[in-house]
Amino acid sequence: MHSILVTPAIVVRSWSFGESDKIVSFLTAEYGKVTGIAKGAKRSRRRFVNTLEPFSLVQLSFRDRPHTTLAFIHACDLIRPHKNLTTSLEKIACASYLMEVTDAFATEREESRSLFDHLKEGLIWVEDRGPSHSFLAFYELKLLGLAGYQPALESCRRCRRTRAGNSPGHWRFSARDGGLLCASCSALRKEAVPLSAEAIEVLVAVQRAKSILSDHASFSSAALTEGRSVLRHFIQFQTSRELKSASFLDTSSLTW
Ligand SMILES: [Zn+2]
Repeated sequence: MHSILVTPAIVVRSWSFGESDKIVSFLTAEYGKVTGIAKGAKRSRRRFVNTLEPFSLVQLSFRDRPHTTLAFIHACDLIRPHKNLTTSLEKIACASYLMEVTDAFATEREESRSLFDHLKEGLIWVEDRGPSHSFLAFYELKLLGLAGYQPALESCRRCRRTRAGNSPGHWRFSARDGGLLCASCSALRKEAVPLSAEAIEVLVAVQRAKSILSDHASFSSAALTEGRSVLRHFIQFQTSRELKSASFLDTSSLTW
């Protein structure tokens, strides 16, 4: 018999399984991604009272089962329901994106407390203050750093030429190289994306920031949008995933 493991966790997804059960996937502090079966969760709401809703922060108790990666969910105690996250379409879209993009970097059963904490703080931020592009840029850059892919933005990734003193506006971002390339080096990388001097400055400023930014009136929205588009492309490249909620953020008529 496997022993019961207990860890703080965030509910990422849940779906029905058979007549009465639910399958639930979590990002946990101690064990990375965990997917388990909640027996009777559809029929008896008493055992899992509103604790299997996406975004919920819970204390998860589970145990492994023989011959399957699907854990048995023993109990799920609510720590923070994030009720105000579901009050607007903007918040739901943004919170879904945070979960998808963070989950993409996490691994099954590999401790990932820093990713868990980052997501936990991000969801609280969106719930309390609502989404913004500068917040999302901060979230994405910090996430890349935590996952070991902090983009190189100060100098050319190949020849080490620094941006200072070199012609601005001729730099490109190469996802494969993990950062900027100068004009001559990017000739070798047809897929590298041009990045304006202003967008680079925005990304550098956000990357240097110590905490999640509340607002950046000095950033033009065009530069932020351009910088974030490169970050998202980089994240998709590193995780080999298409981010479904990202396209929803683009296509929905969000006002922020
Ligand atoms: Zn170069």
